[in-house]
Amino acid sequence: LDFSGYLKNRIRTVPDWPQQGVMFRDITPLLQNPKTFRMLIDIFVYRYMEEKVDLIAGLDARGFIIGSVLAYELNVGFVPIRKKGKLPFKTVSEEYELEYGNATVEMHTDACKPGDRVVLIDDLVATGGTMLAGAKLLKKLGAEVLEAAAIIDLPELGGSQLVRDSGLELFTVCSYD
Ligand code: 5GP
Repeated sequence: LDFSGYLKNRIRTVPDWPQQGVMFRDITPLLQNPKTFRMLIDIFVYRYMEEKVDLIAGLDARGFIIGSVLAYELNVGFVPIRKKGKLPFKTVSEEYELEYGNATVEMHTDACKPGDRVVLIDDLVATGGTMLAGAKLLKKLGAEVLEAAAIIDLPELGGSQLVRDSGLELFTVCSYD
């Protein structure tokens, strides 16, 4: 079975959203369908079930949807990496560049402890900035990032290469050229 092709059939491309010229890859149809949702989660579960994983860290906001289910299935905890200003307790933060302007991601300082083996997850890698910022936060707290994982890679934007060049392992399920 071609899992990747099967899942891709449930990813909708929305042209010119959120702005002119962008082809937005919308995963909501994939999540909405019980068969593709399960298939997607199971791909990640099988990948990590025999690894010693302590924690899943999910990136705001679509990384929460898949990351929390994955954590539950692996019987490990889940921590959210949030956009600036959302977390109530003490945080560490990391600023990164977007196409226009900057963004900041934050994590609670006690969200993981030194030596924790963490899988970092999001829905999509474009420029790689979000994934790299998330990994930096985890490393600041002394965690070991076993792998970064996403449903979709947009290799033409160079982000997946940048992530791998930084020394981080990256796993993606589907890719759009
Ligand atoms: P990057 O930081 O790699 O440039 O962008 C990745 C982040 O932007 C991810 O958190 C992802 O959710 C969001 N993103 C950017 N483009 C798309 C897209 O086409 N589809 C989806 N689902 N998310 C996107």
